[in-house]
Amino acid sequence: MQVITQVSELRETMQALRCNGKSIGFVPTMGALHEGHLQLLRASVKDNDVTVCSIFVNPTQFNNPDDYKLYPRTLEADIALLQTTGCDFIFAPSPEAIYPQHTMLQFSFGALEQVMEGEQRPGHFNGVATIVSKFFNVVQPHKAYFGQKDLQQVAVIRQLILGLGFDIELVCYPTVRETDGLAMSSRNKRLTAEQRETAVSLHEALQLAKSQLKYESQESIKTAVAEYLQGKPEVQLEYFEIADPLTLQPVQSITDVKEVALCMAAYVGPVRLIDNLVVNLSEV
Ligand code: AMP
Repeated sequence: MQVITQVSELRETMQALRCNGKSIGFVPTMGALHEGHLQLLRASVKDNDVTVCSIFVNPTQFNNPDDYKLYPRTLEADIALLQTTGCDFIFAPSPEAIYPQHTMLQFSFGALEQVMEGEQRPGHFNGVATIVSKFFNVVQPHKAYFGQKDLQQVAVIRQLILGLGFDIELVCYPTVRETDGLAMSSRNKRLTAEQRETAVSLHEALQLAKSQLKYESQESIKTAVAEYLQGKPEVQLEYFEIADPLTLQPVQSITDVKEVALCMAAYVGPVRLIDNLVVNLSEV
């Protein structure tokens, strides 16, 4: 496994591999790796001749300076974990290597970025689209792996690939959870032991919503979720939405659709967490 920090070196290495007919899988991450990331990596190693993992805490996608500053950075431990997956290249650039000058690029994703994460984190998806476009240009992977945990991000990347005509297959990997159901996240590392215990209530609230989909109105499901979380110490619900899994727009009537995405963001203490469940309505 080779660690690359310079854009030009990564570009030349990838070009040579492509010329030799190798298939390239790409897994972009912000590091502080956990089993969720590692499963994406293993999927890429299985599907492709060569796998590249980027580790870069991208400043342009953080709308909260404290969140950027406090985001866990554990490069040495990440390298050791990646060695166990069969990953071939780690791309770990400095912010200066990626942004030698201030970028003026602006992406717009219309209604897709006016809900949930887009609404709550202004500029977030512009930063995501900027960094992913830059990485796609340099790596030019055949397949790129993203987690369903960030469902709206997957929808944004799908539009980015379509809009800019990237010749890349998007793979959406299911959310990997702790044994109690909490979605794995690098931000979980910032939770105290007590907060970690209550954090599972996000998943429990989603399960509660799922169990009511067949019988209750959207309004009463939303009330039930809010009331469930109100009873949990240090938990502050930011949003809970019942949305179309592809467009992320609110679902007008549950009876008219085959699938819904139950999406949530909540603070547990100072840490903002997100989670979702995609539910096939014929299975509830
Ligand atoms: P991050 O480092 O948080 O930017 O995540 C890098 C990639 O890993 C993104 O595509 C995430 O959606 C994905 N990911 C993060 N957590 C999980 C998880 N628990 N299960 C599956 N994929 C995940």
